[in-house]
Amino acid sequence: MDATTLLHHLACGMHALSGHDSAGPSVPPYPDDTQHALDLVVRECLDHERTPPAGVPELVEWCTDLASERWPYPPAHTGMALVDPVHRTRTRACAELAGVAAIADALMVEALSDLPAAEAAERFRFLRSHVLVGPDTQRELLMKNPKAASVFKFVKALYQPVPAAWVVRGRVGLCECGLPARPDRLTGELVTWCERETCPPGAWVEQRLPAGRALLLHSALRLFVALPSTLDDRVRDGLVATGLPVRTLDLATRRHEVRFPGRAPVSFRCYDRIVASALAIEATADRVDIAVIPDSSTLATPVARRAFADALPPGLPVTLATESELLAGAINDRKDT
Ligand SMILES: [Zn+2]
Repeated sequence: MDATTLLHHLACGMHALSGHDSAGPSVPPYPDDTQHALDLVVRECLDHERTPPAGVPELVEWCTDLASERWPYPPAHTGMALVDPVHRTRTRACAELAGVAAIADALMVEALSDLPAAEAAERFRFLRSHVLVGPDTQRELLMKNPKAASVFKFVKALYQPVPAAWVVRGRVGLCECGLPARPDRLTGELVTWCERETCPPGAWVEQRLPAGRALLLHSALRLFVALPSTLDDRVRDGLVATGLPVRTLDLATRRHEVRFPGRAPVSFRCYDRIVASALAIEATADRVDIAVIPDSSTLATPVARRAFADALPPGLPVTLATESELLAGAINDRKDT
């Protein structure tokens, strides 16, 4: 089995286990994907005459370091983990490699289907701006924003009880980036760890609620809808400000089209990701010409750009561009060449 295939099965296994929340990794029965990942690793170890992991808890430990010498061969490059070594949460890389973005797209397509454009836009706005809702949210909305209150009724199924990993002293908080955060235990004002993983230490806790009475947006929608939404706003506002015609091709999957002067229109989607190979496969499936990433993205480095290009299927080119590169029109227009 090649390393890429093994990595995908491992990511699916660790992702499935993260949804298995309450019991924790030491309690069988495990989800099928987790058991399957263990079986694959055991077989590879035996084939390579290595000692296999004794069970799922040990496999979880192995997944905190994919470059460790315990593996029969490293499933990924140094520095990548599927399980955070400190917080024991499923990492963003794991979610990306397990294809959770497709789950987010499917949920959004369902949530926005058969709606007039204005109502679909309302629902989308609500979901992206309400990652955490509390017991008073509906009452507050009824007073301040009755329209949003009625939207909440229709999307409530996309909210879930807060997983134990995000509860500190009975409360759940959001980081400045809008994703769940673990606040410091002393004052609860600063973030020690957030779901985005890349926020600088000392980011502020923006919102905090009693965890038992709060609901969190579905984890797939947090990472793949709420997180990239600020980038999406910046890019579209930036293009509009320079007078370029932009139109949304599909709101549920946030695919847009822009027309640079003298060129054929190009489609794009904004992604906030950390695994180049997983993004290449998804951007191809999304059928966009350009995958737009934040200027600060780790995928903007030459090494990551090469990994992205290498993972594209032959004959289906997608351009990887930072937001600044797109705004400057500094992208190759394949349709003209
Ligand atoms: Zn953050």
